[in-house]
Amino acid sequence: DHVGVIRRSSSLNFELQEDPSFWKDHNVQVVIRIRPLSNLEISTQGLNKCVRQESTQDITWTGHPESRYTFDLVADENVTQENLFNVAGLPMVENCMGGYNSCMFAYGQTGSGKTHTMMGDIDGGTLMGDIVGGTRRHSVNCGMIPRVFEHLFTRIQKDKEARRDEKLRFTCKFSYLQIYNEQILDLLDPSLANLQIRESPKKGVYVENLKEMEVTCARDVIQLLIQGKTNRRVAATNMNEASSRSHNVFTCIIESKWEVQGVAHHRFARLNLVDLDGTERQGSSGAEGKRLNEATNINKSLSALGNVIMKLVSSNGKLVHVPYRDSKITFLLQDSLGGNSKTSIIANISPANCNSMETLGTLKFAQRANFIKNNASVNEVASRDVHTMRIQIQQLEKEVNQMG
Ligand code: ADP
Ligand code: MG
Repeated sequence: DHVGVIRRSSSLNFELQEDPSFWKDHNVQVVIRIRPLSNLEISTQGLNKCVRQESTQDITWTGHPESRYTFDLVADENVTQENLFNVAGLPMVENCMGGYNSCMFAYGQTGSGKTHTMMGDIDGGTLMGDIVGGTRRHSVNCGMIPRVFEHLFTRIQKDKEARRDEKLRFTCKFSYLQIYNEQILDLLDPSLANLQIRESPKKGVYVENLKEMEVTCARDVIQLLIQGKTNRRVAATNMNEASSRSHNVFTCIIESKWEVQGVAHHRFARLNLVDLDGTERQGSSGAEGKRLNEATNINKSLSALGNVIMKLVSSNGKLVHVPYRDSKITFLLQDSLGGNSKTSIIANISPANCNSMETLGTLKFAQRANFIKNNASVNEVASRDVHTMRIQIQQLEKEVNQMG
């Protein structure tokens, strides 16, 4: 089993169980996912590929000259949605439960498998699969996002039951936005267009007026995903968008509160799940006006992402200006890139010879991203409530009096 090589703790303790074999100390992991050749590719170009997998961590680009790359995981076409979730999704949920901001983004050219990876099949009500013999069997193509939320809510339920005496409570708020042509559209409330990104010491980077819906189970999230997808289709038509070229950002804020011996704890984590726009260069095939503007913006935002990563990696830990604000996507993901977050990058590639140059570009991007260092720390505050503090003061006074 390919994925079995990377072991993760199966512990469901509330406290985060770090797995050093996968979550390196710089808190960034990079996974390459190779999609299968399509039938059309096989019928037109045969079975030759532009990449050769060497191991679960090594891959060779077989163009000229050949070049070899090493990542945290190279997942070939035999790695299932479930396998990938077990390796990259489960630890992410554990991290969020432990109070770490987490981010996963899918990068790659159009058609390389980003949406398949992040969302998978969500139509036809098969998304969460059927209940078979009392347990839910996912549809095999169900992707990372629905799996993450199903696991998250299972974990929350388990924790709440196990820690009843601590009055453990959770709040999860979900939002779903699209960045198209450098404009932010709320996909849960499409009347809200051109939203602005703000930054505050208390909230960090956030989108002003973005609708945040409280969700209490995976079904709630699925419903919002479907709603967002419908809104997205409407928006695409309104914008006369031939292809749906946009970044899609799914965010969940997970907060927990509990009490131990009169000390109130408050923990929170921001989970960002991102399906980026395709990275391929826009052909100069007579794109004009709006379409040209669209193409320019898309290139701009992805090259801004590349620039941010370049800067982070070359700064080598020194304080330098990182151009996060050059694009909406890098501004929004500021924490996830070089900041307080544990971040996974799934770089999707096509093995087809006709995509060879794009695949090489993605491998190079992923290799650079592999050098990003994040400083993730737990978001938690503990405070004694006033009543308990009074009792403790009285207790101390008594002790002092007795000593005197
Ligand atoms: P992108 O979002 O990057 O444009 P898609 O996720 O839409 O690409 O994938 C393009 C096509 O390839 C879809 O039909 C998808 O179902 C298929 N595909 C992508 N990755 C895989 C995979 N790992 N296994 C099977 N089919 C895949
Ligand atoms: Mg897609």
